[in-house]
Amino acid sequence: MASNRKGLICSMCGTHESAANPVVKVLEGLNLCTDCIAYIDNARDSQLKKQPDKGKKEEKSGKIPKPKEIKEFLDKYVIGQDTAKKYLSVAVYNHYKRINQPEDDEVDIEKSNIILVGPTGTGKTLLAKTIAKLLDVPFTIVDATVLTEAGYVGEDIESLLTRLLQTCDYDVEKAERGIVFIDEIDKIARKSDNPSITRDVSGEGVQQGLLKLLEGSVVLVPPNGGRKHPEQKMIAVNTKNILFICGGAFDGIERKIASRLNTHVVGYGHDESGRKKKRENLMKYVLPMDLKSFGLIPEIIGRLPILTSLDPLDREALRRILTEPKNSIIGQYKKLFEMDGVKLEFTEEALDFIVDKAIEYKLGARGLRSIVETIMVDSMFEVPSVNQKEFRIDLDYVKDQLERAHFEKTEIKD
Ligand code: ADP
Repeated sequence: MASNRKGLICSMCGTHESAANPVVKVLEGLNLCTDCIAYIDNARDSQLKKQPDKGKKEEKSGKIPKPKEIKEFLDKYVIGQDTAKKYLSVAVYNHYKRINQPEDDEVDIEKSNIILVGPTGTGKTLLAKTIAKLLDVPFTIVDATVLTEAGYVGEDIESLLTRLLQTCDYDVEKAERGIVFIDEIDKIARKSDNPSITRDVSGEGVQQGLLKLLEGSVVLVPPNGGRKHPEQKMIAVNTKNILFICGGAFDGIERKIASRLNTHVVGYGHDESGRKKKRENLMKYVLPMDLKSFGLIPEIIGRLPILTSLDPLDREALRRILTEPKNSIIGQYKKLFEMDGVKLEFTEEALDFIVDKAIEYKLGARGLRSIVETIMVDSMFEVPSVNQKEFRIDLDYVKDQLERAHFEKTEIKD
């Protein structure tokens, strides 16, 4: 009786067509039931998902530049800071090597999060930004001072990952290979070297909260930042392969370094070399124990194994910053004028004077830009409306403009 059944038979599973599972004629001699078509669809989708993944991995591993190439790239944008550049280049190279390590490898390479110690405006953020540019990975800057322990006013610690997700349109896979720069890490130091008995709202609690992010774990992130709400659908982000770079000025840490060095030096009877070190930039002798004396908890220090310092910018560095880096301040103004068909020139004396003013007002590299902006505002207003092919900025023009703007009263913005 079964042989009397009419209709098509699926060439793949042999099922007779029915109302619940119709069979479609795909080609002459090839009929497929709906169940088998769905099965093929699923198989194709999962196959497609695997393929681009594989391709991406190869592409990524092929793209990782060597430490020397990373440093050369940094050199184009950041003046000086050779030691920090070297440490960063090696750390970033190892980090991406680690990401591309086969999962079954017996040797587990540990995460190489970085901490940059140095005066404000010496290029910590710029270094991190430039690394992200080179690697073409999602990058975000978060200020540690806005983070607070859960339950307090401020942002949940996980919200720093919200910003990372936002930079790559919530592509979780991309974000999980990104770089987070946590600025002002020194501001969440606890106030004394002794573990607190009571809870320390601003510092220690946040440091504790940061631990799990730094070491690598799956974190539930509120998609819109801020506080977690129970009704909000969280996004799970694995921080295992996110590189954290922390930066801080650590004002006053020199005293801790000095006292450590002096103890050591006195102990070994090398007074003279101790005094010499004092005169130099003490920051470059920074060790994890100094960060601990400053108020970072040992667990945090342990999760930031790469520690390096940045030098204060001297006159020569400031002068180079004006004109040498790609995207240099002067280069940017030249470009703006060029777009109006005007060739902009600065005399050497004019540039030297700008540096003098930045030093005089203790404005550092951040100040260079505000000084140049003050000098340029009139010419940027006038020049596009007059038929002029060249514009030259000399010492007199600079002095005149700064005087007219009462530069001393100018607010510094960055
Ligand atoms: P911070 O160390 O406080 O993070 P930034 O990296 O934000 O300092 O530097 C502030 C600005 O000063 C940058 O935008 C950059 O233009 C300039 N700058 C600082 N240091 C350097 C440097 N070493 N080379 C080139 N530019 C620098």
